[in-house]
Amino acid sequence: MRVTSHTVGAFQENCYLVVDEARDEAVLVDPGAEGERILRAVAASGARLTAIWLTHAHIDHIGAIAAVKRVHDVPIWMHPDDQPLYERGAWQAAAYGLPFESPPPADHALADGDILRVGDEEFRVLHTPGHAPGHCVFESAGTGLLLAGDLLFAGSIGRTDLPLSDPRAMTRSLARVMALEPALHVHPGHGPATTIWRELETNPFLNGVARVAGG
Ligand SMILES: [Zn+2]
Ligand SMILES: [Zn+2]
Repeated sequence: MRVTSHTVGAFQENCYLVVDEARDEAVLVDPGAEGERILRAVAASGARLTAIWLTHAHIDHIGAIAAVKRVHDVPIWMHPDDQPLYERGAWQAAAYGLPFESPPPADHALADGDILRVGDEEFRVLHTPGHAPGHCVFESAGTGLLLAGDLLFAGSIGRTDLPLSDPRAMTRSLARVMALEPALHVHPGHGPATTIWRELETNPFLNGVARVAGG
């Protein structure tokens, strides 16, 4: 499996292209902006795009869905608790003065514990509300990978002062994810990659969470 990061748009969001080279199939995670660039990355991979997975529905993660769907009519997977954010994308964008093309409706509802596939590779869905009510992360235990959205960043965590954020839910979600395999490689929605272990050791926002997770 090959994962490439494409940092796009005014919010410098990381869109991930996950390719199973054995089956030449790919999924896009959070196509947030710069649709033409993301489409070029899909074409360059040589793989067939089979789905769009969303960690959550803030505008910086959904702004290129419409452009991608015009070329690849693949299903969109999103947790239904983010539907209010998804529908208010244009309104969110106007508040920031950004151009925005509203995405078509999501096709499939993510749920905690779901198993998603790209080719022969499997990802487990963990519903991790807090930053957004329908926020999910995608874990590939087999390849040691976590697509973390805006839950966890290198040295920081996602904001919980936004509309529909929930700081208490965020604390629970972080505790759950920090209890996963420490060697997991974390690919966040913004900034550089890291590992669970590294964040447990160094992330100033997680000291309390780490103690809770460790009992
Ligand atoms: Zn966000
Ligand atoms: Zn974001």
